[in-house]
Amino acid sequence: MPQVLVILGRQGSGKGTQAALLAERYGVIHVSTGDMLRAAVEAGTELGLRAKAVMDAGDLVGDDIMIGIVDERLADDDIQASGVLLDGFPRTTAQADALAEIAGGSGPDLAINLDVPIAEVTERMLARGRADDTAETIARRLELYEAETAPLLAWFEDRGSLAVVDGLGSEDEVFARLAEVIDGL
Ligand code: AMP
Repeated sequence: MPQVLVILGRQGSGKGTQAALLAERYGVIHVSTGDMLRAAVEAGTELGLRAKAVMDAGDLVGDDIMIGIVDERLADDDIQASGVLLDGFPRTTAQADALAEIAGGSGPDLAINLDVPIAEVTERMLARGRADDTAETIARRLELYEAETAPLLAWFEDRGSLAVVDGLGSEDEVFARLAEVIDGL
C-alpha cells in the first residue's frame, strides 16, 4: 500500500479545505468520505438514498458501509500510484482497525489532528449557514465526534502516528503548520 495520511478534526475545523491544499502540495489523492456520500445523495444511488436520512440527522453512516466504500476506493489505480489523504475517515475505532488492515502493517503513516475548540467550530458552522448546519445537528455531530472519533486520537497515539496541529489562525498559517509536520515525516 502506498502512503496513507489521515486528517482528523471536528466538523468546522477547516480540515476539508486544508486537506485539499495538502493533497495538491504533496501530490496525494484527497478522499473525503463526506464528499463521496454527498455525491451519492446527489446522484440518487442506493447508497445515497440510504445515507441521506442519517446525514440529515447528523448521525454516522454505518461502519460496514463506510469501510466497504473506502476499501473499494483505496484499491483504485490513482491511489495505488500516488497515495491518499483521508478526510472524514476513520471516524470510529472499528473504521480505524479496518483501515489498518487495508493499509497493511500498523496502519496509516500519519494522522494529524487539526485541533479547534468546540466553541470556535460551533461559531464557524453557524456562520457558514449550510442547510444541514442547524444548532441541533451541529450539537449532535460534535457530541458524536467526542464519543466516537475523539477515542481515535489515543488509537493513533498508541501506534506512534499522531500529530496535533493548532487549527486556529488564518488558512495560510494553519497550512504552514500542517506542511511542517508532513515535511518532518
Ligand atoms: P463530513 O463532510 O466529513 O462532515 O461528513 C458529512 C456526513 O457524512 C457526516 O455527518 C456523516 O453522517 C457522514 N460520514 C462521512 N464520513 C463518515 C464516516 N467515516 N463514518 C460515518 N459517517 C460518515
